[in-house]
Amino acid sequence: MTVKRKKKNRFGDYLATCEDCGAEFWFPLESGTLILCNGCLTKRYREDLQLDKHSLDEHMEEQHLRFEKWCALLTEMKDLYYAADQMVKTERARIDSEIRLCEPDSLEGRFGLSKLSEAAINGAIERHGDYLETLSLLRAARTRKDLLEGCVEAFRDRRSMLKYLTELYVAQYYDRSQVSRSRVEETIAKHTRVPRREKEE
Ligand SMILES: [Zn+2]
Repeated sequence: MTVKRKKKNRFGDYLATCEDCGAEFWFPLESGTLILCNGCLTKRYREDLQLDKHSLDEHMEEQHLRFEKWCALLTEMKDLYYAADQMVKTERARIDSEIRLCEPDSLEGRFGLSKLSEAAINGAIERHGDYLETLSLLRAARTRKDLLEGCVEAFRDRRSMLKYLTELYVAQYYDRSQVSRSRVEETIAKHTRVPRREKEE
């Protein structure tokens, strides 16, 4: 997939363009997989989660591949999240030492500090543009990781649900009684109702 990069900051991270809707969003670090905003990613996984009672055999075949695909995305996102977390810590330490090593005469001009107390240093770090930028990347990574965790969880449910529906089918409940038919339909409807997740951060 081609990734259209709009901006590269000094941490090597990018503002990416969603392949589906064209929205710009922070996409932390490099990734070779789906370049989709969270809204479009959610839409894709909901499509993948859909169940049709007439295609249970197809679903059984493709379930494993779909599950693997979303697990791989989650694994990648976890790595990116830990890397972003580390980046925030490194950035904090870097600015901290820059402040402490700064000439007293330049403190005000460079960091807006009139004196060098611990509280003042912390405040200056938390207002620093570079620090804030790493924080937004960390937030973007966390939102995405949470979203994918929910998604993988939903695919686990789908697997159990498929197994259950197939058992019902094999037991020929499907065609014999209206009661069991509606049970199958209800079960599918309940299963495909994915909990609402946050949209774009
Ligand atoms: Zn999108």
